Amino acid sequence: MKELIMCYLGETALKGLNKSNFEARLMREVRKRTESCGNFKTYKAQSVFYVEPADEFADTDRAFDRVKKIFGFTHISKARIAEKDMDKICKLAPEYCARALAEAKTFKVAARRSDKEFPLGSLEISKEVGHWVLEAYPHLEVDVKKPDVTVMVEIRDKSAYVHTDKVKARGGVPVGTSGRGAIMLSGGIDSPVAAYMMAKRGMDIMSVHFASPPYTSERARGKVITLAEKLTEYTGDMNLFIVPFTEAQEYIRDNGVEDLFTILMRRSMLRITARIAEKYGAQAIVTGESLGQVASQTIGALAITDATVDMPIFRPCIGMDKIEISDIARNIDTFETSILPYEDCCTIFTPSHPKTKPKMSEILAAEEKMDMTKLARLEEKARSEREKIFIKLR
Ligand code: ATP
Ligand code: MG
Repeated sequence: MKELIMCYLGETALKGLNKSNFEARLMREVRKRTESCGNFKTYKAQSVFYVEPADEFADTDRAFDRVKKIFGFTHISKARIAEKDMDKICKLAPEYCARALAEAKTFKVAARRSDKEFPLGSLEISKEVGHWVLEAYPHLEVDVKKPDVTVMVEIRDKSAYVHTDKVKARGGVPVGTSGRGAIMLSGGIDSPVAAYMMAKRGMDIMSVHFASPPYTSERARGKVITLAEKLTEYTGDMNLFIVPFTEAQEYIRDNGVEDLFTILMRRSMLRITARIAEKYGAQAIVTGESLGQVASQTIGALAITDATVDMPIFRPCIGMDKIEISDIARNIDTFETSILPYEDCCTIFTPSHPKTKPKMSEILAAEEKMDMTKLARLEEKARSEREKIFIKLR
């Protein structure tokens, strides 16, 4: 009997969303993300998605790791299929759960019967399977409250399934059910986390990165590509746009007001990002900003950056401190890459005393002093010369 993967849908996740759209997107994600793991049959029955190997070459362990990172499931589990026959189930349970049972001191059997035609009730199933487990592992004791291992037996429409404890999955809603957003991806800790958080809410993610060679290096560029690759485990395949920002940035440095430089530059980056986002169907911009983290992330400064573009700007890290953001970064395995000490275009030319409480009028005056037609031309040039890299989940 073969092993398959059972993925449990979060009932609450379905609230307020179109159920069939939700499930269709989820199915598409499951199929796409397991594509490189071999041939699988993927289907849904009674709020569970099944990922079943279609031949002996299919790599179920690898598919399991993939599926664990798909948003939309609350739990997943590897399981063994059995015929709906008590003799077979009782023989299979101790055998399939052998490793976990051998290491445990206590256990319980939890049976669920969604096929009401099955002759035994869930309590009776649990008792009988429990009996067979004890026969095979006499060192075990039953503990229904806090067992080391739970042997689960599910009697469903088509078959019975046996497995041990389910693993907690990522929750969230399937990528693509909440529109598309353009993440401004720096090489830092915060922006990959912001991308992850919005993808978890169903956003289809595309990334925009600003590079200023020769001030920023090839290694800094490589770092961002690595981060995007790591993100695809959660977001699925994505486009990464690398914008050559040097000329626009130098123009602002040479013609802007020094202590407002960071904000003037951020406004320029936002204008470019919004244009790329529009062209590729994104309805929002996402950043890794967190309130009070640096001078450009005060309420006033954020309001001024907001006013730059018509698009909504989402900042999922806004209320988190660096420790909380770093914990998520470690959890999604971007942290070690993010802390590599390569320069970012935002950290070159930083003024020695950036204004923490800039006024909108000051910003507008500073922009008026520059030749905005010239800057717009440089921004347009940067936009059109951007490199588009399709980052595919490997
Ligand atoms: P992060 O880890 O996001 O880099 P940070 O503390 O370094 O955090 P800042 O450098 O102030 O933050 O940048 C704030 C936000 O601006 C980033 O989270 C990111 O969304 C965006 N950003 C900064 N630099 C770039 C860049 N080179 N390309 C694209 N977006 C950027
Ligand atoms: Mg940064």
